[in-house]
Amino acid sequence: MAGLLPVADALARVLAGATALPEEWLPLAEADGRVLSRDLVATRTQPPAAVSAMDGYAVRAADLPGSLTVIGESAAGRPFSGTLPAGTALRIFTGAELPDGADTIVIQEDTARHGDHVSVATSSPRGRHIRPQGLDFAEGMVGLTAGTRLDPRKLALAAAMNHARVPVHRAPRVAILSTGDELIEPGSTPGPGQIVSSNALAVALLVRREGGIATDLGICPDRLDATLAAVRGARQAGFDILVTSGGASVGEYDLMRDVIEHEGAELGFWKIAMRPGKPLMMADLGPMRLLGLPGNPVASFVCSTIFLLPLLRKLAGRRDIEAATEEATFAVDVGPNDLRADYLRASLDWRDGRLVATPAPVQDSSMIRVLAEADALVLRAPHAPAAPAGSPCRIIRLSQRGLPPAG
Ligand code: AMP
Ligand code: MG
Repeated sequence: MAGLLPVADALARVLAGATALPEEWLPLAEADGRVLSRDLVATRTQPPAAVSAMDGYAVRAADLPGSLTVIGESAAGRPFSGTLPAGTALRIFTGAELPDGADTIVIQEDTARHGDHVSVATSSPRGRHIRPQGLDFAEGMVGLTAGTRLDPRKLALAAAMNHARVPVHRAPRVAILSTGDELIEPGSTPGPGQIVSSNALAVALLVRREGGIATDLGICPDRLDATLAAVRGARQAGFDILVTSGGASVGEYDLMRDVIEHEGAELGFWKIAMRPGKPLMMADLGPMRLLGLPGNPVASFVCSTIFLLPLLRKLAGRRDIEAATEEATFAVDVGPNDLRADYLRASLDWRDGRLVATPAPVQDSSMIRVLAEADALVLRAPHAPAAPAGSPCRIIRLSQRGLPPAG
């Protein structure tokens, strides 16, 4: 099979010329899942002054051990004004500002209070239980870098750095068109030879998880007028990506080529050295990139994972765009691979302190059930030699199964 395109080359073509979408400013609560379009700098220092990390007494370490006169208190938001003289202590609470003169906190449990005196039986290292000014971050520091995907933790940091809004890339808008005369929507009554469409749903949900906005355009029959109308509608609606599913057979490919020709563009069609998911189509319709995925459900999912999601992440402004992989170990002997990269559906287990992968015995690319039950895709490089049980492999994780037991 000469002329098969390596996966990496196909991915490079899918990503070629794609750049991060324009910037917009969003309130923090609306920015979850978005990607920062520029560095975010702290506009203040945290903590703004040295504060106590515990409830207790602010003292001078040199006075310990001893009995000290309590001259006042400092609580969070209500600092003590004035300097702490030698031989005195200040009642202090967690997060409260340390007064000038004090250099150590003695925790409440290590003291005895008698009226306006507090006695401390032991000495304490200077600086104990004090959070110095700027421990967390200092004004002017880059707290979050451009390209970071925002999540609840990172947005909490943005808030602490005193930002109300953040600059992010616009979310990619993705339309999904299922093509095929045989397809019906889930829940309909199938006629003879009909198949329930499942690809659009999976693609839409994958897109949403990555922070994209997915729109299902429904099912389109394998006819020029219908397909052309759907593609034109997607262009007019201003989608960034149009994903089509199905159309891998010769007649359907011809149809898609006619559609793209009518739109004044050129259709790229590559047979990729991968299994599942050999054929992939691509066309640029103005600013909208069309990606034509194969119709087989497993091929559709794997091609979405390997090609569509990286494209989406690039448009969203992310730097880490390729599918993340992890190391695992084969639980069983695996035979040598042919010239196509293989993505084996496999189960994962944690066994003897190792993550082990067991490929499903049947790897047919039409089998959505096997994909649904899988915990991972095991990557097999083209021409990989036979791998006996116990040899290492790379996986793309699909579920949380096989994580080490807690504790
Ligand atoms: P195609 O790529 O159009 O040749 O389709 C390959 C196989 O995938 C055929 O068996 C189709 O019935 C099936 N298929 C196509 N589109 C879908 C879809 N949206 N959902 C589930 N199966 C599909
Ligand atoms: Mg078809």
